[in-house]
Amino acid sequence: MKAVQYREVGGAPEVVTVPDPVVGPGQVLLKVTAAGVCHSDIAVMSWPAEQLGFPLPLTLGHEGAGMVAALGDGVEGVAVGESVAVYGPWGCGTCLMCAQGKENYCLRADELGIRPPGLGAPGAIAEYLLVDDARHLVPLGDLDPVRNVPLTDAGLTPYHAIKGALPKLVPGSAAVVIGTGGLGHVAIQVLRAMSPARVIALDVSEEKLELARTVGAHETVLSDERATARVRELTGGLGAQAVFDFVGAPPTVATATAVAGVEADVLIVGIGGGIAQLGFGVVPYDASVRAPYWGSRAELIEVLELARAGVVDVHVETYSLDEAPEAYERLHAGRINGRAVILP
Ligand code: NAD
Ligand code: ZN
Repeated sequence: MKAVQYREVGGAPEVVTVPDPVVGPGQVLLKVTAAGVCHSDIAVMSWPAEQLGFPLPLTLGHEGAGMVAALGDGVEGVAVGESVAVYGPWGCGTCLMCAQGKENYCLRADELGIRPPGLGAPGAIAEYLLVDDARHLVPLGDLDPVRNVPLTDAGLTPYHAIKGALPKLVPGSAAVVIGTGGLGHVAIQVLRAMSPARVIALDVSEEKLELARTVGAHETVLSDERATARVRELTGGLGAQAVFDFVGAPPTVATATAVAGVEADVLIVGIGGGIAQLGFGVVPYDASVRAPYWGSRAELIEVLELARAGVVDVHVETYSLDEAPEAYERLHAGRINGRAVILP
């Protein structure tokens, strides 16, 4: 089959032919219907070998959806031909976190060498994807896999971050979204659907800010050295009660804490190497800073329900498998508006 692989450290993704995967006991084989392209892949492809923690080549793609093509021995609860989304942060399935459906925080994944598809295990940007266990699948029903496959990460990750901050987002509060790309433009919609907060979106690109307004941001602010003052002004000097940084670079992490108000939740989601300064008098009284990762199985089901209810609609640009390397180039250059989705 054809697959898009990251083959050597520092290299560009390549379209290659690899052996068709063969379904083993307990596994499910999917014919991939859609696979999302995430900025995290670009981060991974910038890492030195010692930071990777898994061997190359790697078939990319940690946002996957497919039709069930074959079932391994003993698999129950899923049928051939069913349309499913893949829950990506695979865990051991039995530790204290996994038992709560929080496989993103599995306590044993590292020790057992369990890696998400596309982030260590073979990923979804290929004609077929092998899924290790049927519990990683969520039925899509009549949801379009192309428009909804990004919800497995670009939806689930902001959903998880926002859900944890909801108690702060009371009427009259403000939420700041920094970086309104793949994750950020979904975050704005989740915030609008789940809270009465005023949503203030920041980005460096006017085109992205336009998308932010289209999907429901009340205010948009260019992310430059004047952004903090502008957010303070928009919040009557108080700052925001929740801040979501989908860039996570040193300047945005600094902005994220600078625009936070008293008792705010600051969620650093982007993996851009920024480090938050914490200490008495450094951040507002009682502010918390967290760095969440992906989301739980239950939260994936919930975020798909938001799509089913029609309140979350991912803005997608589609590419063929052969065009996937170009989609990565465009994402790297900041030229994808919304999410790029590969159709194998
Ligand atoms: P993306 O490229 O689609 O979006 C990033 C957006 O940030 C773009 O719109 C870009 O214009 C904007 N931006 C860049 N610099 C900025 C700045 N200084 N100020 C404001 N906006 C700026 O990327 P994505 O796929 O949405 O991923 C966003 C980040 O989240 C990446 O760092 C990714 O690796 C990370 N991520 C983290 C998790 C997690 O679980 N923590 C999961 C998925 C992705
Ligand atoms: Zn576990």
